[in-house]
Amino acid sequence: MSINLKSLVSVLDAEWNGSDIDIFVDHISIDSRSLQNGPQTLFIALSGVNNDAHLYIAELIEKGVQNFVVQYIPENVKGKANFFIVKNTLKALQELAAYYRNLFQIPIIGLTGSNGKTIVKEWLNFLLSPDYNIIRSPKSYNSQVGVPLSVIAINEKHNLGIFEAGISTVNEMANLEKIIKPTIGVLTNIGSAHDEGFLNLVQKIDEKLILFKDCPVIIYQKTEVVDSCLTQFAAEYMMHPRKLFSWSFTDNSADVFILKKESKNEHTHIQYQYKGENFSLEIPFSDSASVENAISCLLVLLYFNYNQEVIQSRIAMLYPVRMRLEVKNGINNCSIIDDSYSSDFQSLKIALDFLESQKKNASKTVILSDIFQSGFSKEELYSKVAQLISDNKVNRVIGIGSTISSFASKFANSRMFQNTADFINEIENLNFNNETILIKGARSFQFEEIVSLLEEKTHETVLEINLDAITHNFNYFKSKLKPDVKMMVMVKAFGYGNGGLEIAKLLEHHKVNYLGVAFADEGISLKNGGITLPIMVLNPESTSFPSIIQYQLEPEIYSLKGLNAFLKIAREKNLKDFPIHIKIDTGMHRLGFEDNTIDELIVTLKGNSTVRVQSILSHLATSDDLQHFDFVNQQIDLFEKLSSKLMSELNINPIRHILNTSGISNFPDAQYNMVRLGIGLYGVSNDPAEQKYLENVGTLKSIISQVRTIPAGDSVGYGRRFMAEKETKIATIPIGYADGISRLWGNEAGFVVIKNQKAKIVGSVCMDMLMVNVSHIDCKEGDSVIIFGESPTVIEMAEALKTIPYEIMTSISQRVKRVFFR
Ligand SMILES: *Cc1c(COP(=O)(O)O)cnc(C)c1O
Repeated sequence: MSINLKSLVSVLDAEWNGSDIDIFVDHISIDSRSLQNGPQTLFIALSGVNNDAHLYIAELIEKGVQNFVVQYIPENVKGKANFFIVKNTLKALQELAAYYRNLFQIPIIGLTGSNGKTIVKEWLNFLLSPDYNIIRSPKSYNSQVGVPLSVIAINEKHNLGIFEAGISTVNEMANLEKIIKPTIGVLTNIGSAHDEGFLNLVQKIDEKLILFKDCPVIIYQKTEVVDSCLTQFAAEYMMHPRKLFSWSFTDNSADVFILKKESKNEHTHIQYQYKGENFSLEIPFSDSASVENAISCLLVLLYFNYNQEVIQSRIAMLYPVRMRLEVKNGINNCSIIDDSYSSDFQSLKIALDFLESQKKNASKTVILSDIFQSGFSKEELYSKVAQLISDNKVNRVIGIGSTISSFASKFANSRMFQNTADFINEIENLNFNNETILIKGARSFQFEEIVSLLEEKTHETVLEINLDAITHNFNYFKSKLKPDVKMMVMVKAFGYGNGGLEIAKLLEHHKVNYLGVAFADEGISLKNGGITLPIMVLNPESTSFPSIIQYQLEPEIYSLKGLNAFLKIAREKNLKDFPIHIKIDTGMHRLGFEDNTIDELIVTLKGNSTVRVQSILSHLATSDDLQHFDFVNQQIDLFEKLSSKLMSELNINPIRHILNTSGISNFPDAQYNMVRLGIGLYGVSNDPAEQKYLENVGTLKSIISQVRTIPAGDSVGYGRRFMAEKETKIATIPIGYADGISRLWGNEAGFVVIKNQKAKIVGSVCMDMLMVNVSHIDCKEGDSVIIFGESPTVIEMAEALKTIPYEIMTSISQRVKRVFFR
């Protein structure tokens, strides 16, 4: 893309403030952290409840960005760049995209529906790519922000666009319609239930149909509800004649009527009637959602007049779509970002941003296959790719494929291989260690083999951590804070069992203000992992003071003895203003200065320049329990009194903080200057009403090792504590109490979930294994098992085991591999 800034004043109805307006930009950005920002970037400063990009403009100017769309010009950057001032920057982004879309006359497929949008989009891209230069929404960029960013990536070389539109409530689709302006509409599965945000199913369908307002053809599954919505819709928007192109399993008046459907061995055979003739088709899936999605694709191919042979051969090659980028532990302390199923320029940009935000090691490596379908000449394309890789400060590039190899000279520090096999032969000599590796290649290169070679091998039980859920929960709590209140996130005990460094990296990316750990060694390993955020150590032992100082950690000081010991070491090292945090005991009676020691504390700190009181804190004992609210208020009053005294006597103005997760929810007036978020980040609230707004973070998964059927009267496990009353099918799962599964969860108190069905744990939980009753489940060796996650939740488990979710989460042993994904 290339846009002349001059045109923007009228397009955005903006007020212009700057020195040079006759400039072209070729990159639109909303992410201040992207390394792709530069002089050719137009940065649009979105301003949400949780994050105001206006705060990062100064930083961006330093990095060379010159052009901004803003709602106001922050004081510190006045006169330093070109600004377009608008009322609402999100609207401006959308208007810019709508304007840009209109510059192109190509066919655009617009997809909407409740389920299947991303899969149908990826499949259509695969099915049509032999014949078109396609631009499509990357991943599932289908939101109010994602859609305009996707559309802005169209260029002159594209001759077909495929974009998806997702909405969560009424009135959103009208915005997306203006931006996508589809010429072919596809309505994917709409689901039978109405989602939150809609009154009923009809309202949900009506809203989705708005995407097709001016669309000449609509492809959909014919049902009574959809048909009646369409009739109503046509009455409201009669401007254009419209073709409806439908399919159905039951209604033979549909254009494509499915006569027969038979699924076996992960395949489905269908027979359908079209224009009076019968045809058959093999779909390489057996689940009904995939079959419906494949039929939606079939209709698009029929609409494009493909012949039956091409349709059959291409649909037979459909593949499972992966919607997420996965972060995995690699060999030799590497970490791996697995994006091994796609390779196009647009998704490379996104993957490189993800690489930057997730890198655990300072050094970045990209393994990249040939890139298909860009529309550019090869020369142009690989120049752009090389530039992008260099902008992203990638340390080494490994190219695989004959085309990328022929452009080796464009890449600094690169190794090239003709094909995947050549690379695999050399893998030993490439010395992968201590680097973060992005593996990105087109399907035909089979990079999954590379992933499996570079991945660290462990047993089958994994704790999957959803990084997007962490982000969601973080934003949820952040939205409860008053402006300017800072956030410390507690990542003690290995991030409550969820992964310390990975989560700390994510939080650093989201610009939290502080991290909190329990012990010095936890802080040291975060610093060694490259975390630069300030870290408070809750319980520093005096033996760790020297390393606290060496690693620039910040100790919580809770007694005079501790203060004096720290001062002694700090003076020997000639420290000045070393930040410390003063903990006051207001009723928890765990750690902290009590009321009667405050005077002595003041005497010790007065005039002292060795240390600086960075913050004053206390901890609530019962912020989660309505019965004890009076006690909490007493604690807050005492905190107010003692901290104010410290501040006035010492003439200081430190950060004050007292609230943990449930404190944030229940005592909004005591936020002071900072709060300390813990369990809520990891998806748990003690309030069922609030729980609905949080997303599940950790899913503990394993697989079935063996299945057997035992006759009535036989027993299972140690001590014969399960006796089969009738013939019973038993599955063994390789996870036990040494992995953190309590023995109290055995003997039919607890269950696991296999194929969405509960399977009770029978007999005692062993050290490394447990057995479950699967008589009612059609399952086999190797099938996936969920120990906890969406169901059972750690909250349900904690209730049954008479403990709290904190204990369950932190008990999962370190031998269980953590896998992070978005
Ligand atoms: C663990 C901890 C927190 C966080 O508590 P949550 O209930 O998990 O939010 C806050 N402050 C201190 C001092 C803690 O030890």
